[in-house]
Amino acid sequence: MYQAPAPKPSDTADAVLTGLTAAETAYLREPPEQTPDDARALAELQALAGVLSRSLTQLEYERPLTELPAATLAHHAKAVRRKVLELTTGSGQLPGREARKKLFSWSQGEGQEAFAAVAALRKVLVARLKENDAARLAAQQPAQRPAPAPPVQRGNGEILAAELAKALRENAPQGTETVVRAILVAGGEVYRGRNDGSALLDLTYAVVSHRTDRLETWTVGNCAEVHALDWFIHAQGFSTEAEVVAAFLNPPVAFPDSWIVAMDARGRDVRSWVKRTPCENCQQWLKALGIKADTKGAAS
Ligand SMILES: [Zn+2]
Repeated sequence: MYQAPAPKPSDTADAVLTGLTAAETAYLREPPEQTPDDARALAELQALAGVLSRSLTQLEYERPLTELPAATLAHHAKAVRRKVLELTTGSGQLPGREARKKLFSWSQGEGQEAFAAVAALRKVLVARLKENDAARLAAQQPAQRPAPAPPVQRGNGEILAAELAKALRENAPQGTETVVRAILVAGGEVYRGRNDGSALLDLTYAVVSHRTDRLETWTVGNCAEVHALDWFIHAQGFSTEAEVVAAFLNPPVAFPDSWIVAMDARGRDVRSWVKRTPCENCQQWLKALGIKADTKGAAS
């Protein structure tokens, strides 16, 4: 059977870089200022969190970016991102410079290992960015290349279908443990969740539990769908339930036509991914937020 070759680390770095916003790319290009003002310091921290989010999307597929195994780096990247979000959003929000200072002292103590791993990641991304910049410049040398055609805008449903098809082709983890993954597409972006028991934002838990009468034996926070929503909330930097609800429901809706799909590993000796219907807990909060579940042809 044909198996796609494993991606090269440079491809993985490219996948991270192409997903970055202009501000995040600028953050990688320019060394951080020694004495920024509050606004600049905050922007820097937000860019760092954004770069980590993008990297985590790749690491989640077990695609290494540094010398560390993907899972180890993901663990450290999550720790740093959690710390940054703790200092820059929600009730713990500090003025930019103070947040930057706090992050620095954390990086010297408790967060030392995580921060070193993230520094190595940054180095890899900066090196690749410079390589790409140089290649682009060289390509433009004799004559200016014509401007590329504008990208075709794809709808959320279309993106979801493509992501699902790709995910179903991947190998499912073997064993007997229940493994569920979910893909949420909102605003053209993809957010992936797993039922791996990792910590949720308090805000995500509040949003979900306030919209769910528990109907299943497991708690409402366990589900892959909830973890996908958690990434979305992380990415938007929301700090209140009202903001999350407004994003999906209040006109003009910021994230219209959002879609989610779930899959779990099924089979006896060899397991593969099977599209499934969200559980009865999830069906409630998804409906309350107006997120459509793709259940066509799904197993229950
Ligand atoms: Zn569920």
